[in-house]
Amino acid sequence: MLNEVSKIPTQLGKPRDGGFKVPGWLFEFHGHKCPYSVMGYRMGVVAMRELGREKCYDHDMFVFSEMGVGHPQGCMQDGIQASTSATFGKGQMHKLYFGKVAATFYDPAKGAVRILFRNEFMDKLGTHEFFKFRKQGVEPSKVPVSVAQGVVDMVLDATEEDLFKIERLPDFKFKPVPGSFNKAKCSACGDYVFERYLRVKDGKLVCLKCSGHTEDEHVIYLPF
Ligand SMILES: [Zn+2]
Ligand SMILES: [Zn+2]
Repeated sequence: MLNEVSKIPTQLGKPRDGGFKVPGWLFEFHGHKCPYSVMGYRMGVVAMRELGREKCYDHDMFVFSEMGVGHPQGCMQDGIQASTSATFGKGQMHKLYFGKVAATFYDPAKGAVRILFRNEFMDKLGTHEFFKFRKQGVEPSKVPVSVAQGVVDMVLDATEEDLFKIERLPDFKFKPVPGSFNKAKCSACGDYVFERYLRVKDGKLVCLKCSGHTEDEHVIYLPF
């Protein structure tokens, strides 16, 4: 069933002769054609091979993206999600906000591998005309198709060695937050709230908003 998804026809994902291939639906999902979504897709494929596993159908692989905010390479994360199915939505992808084009892939049964997009290839990619348009404020979907295809082809045609530095992390540890179906209604606003996010105020269960919670209380679940 899942295989059929990759056969959705699309004008965006023209098959190429030679080089790596990505399914056309990657660009449908991501919204535009760009090099970092393709790089992320390949990164996910390499990670699964290194860990000796299939994609993450349920909840048995975690990805820690080192992306931050305010830099465009975040497109990498959509590529990773597309190839591995370790998605934000299922709680399998987390962001570390280091501002690096790298990610650690962790399978509790097989260990962890960190994959860095090589500086040298980032430099090479950055000289492509695509980024002249981007730096002038042209959004990726508005860049001429031939230019976008050209920069995507650079990533498809590159060798894995050119693209990635792969490192095993034998000491990597991560304890996933245990899942829970328990919930209760906030006594102030009436919304259902899952238990981790319930607070007690004046002896009653309330949601974070009704508890007067402030932004600095936000919890980020980091590995280690
Ligand atoms: Zn993109
Ligand atoms: Zn409430």
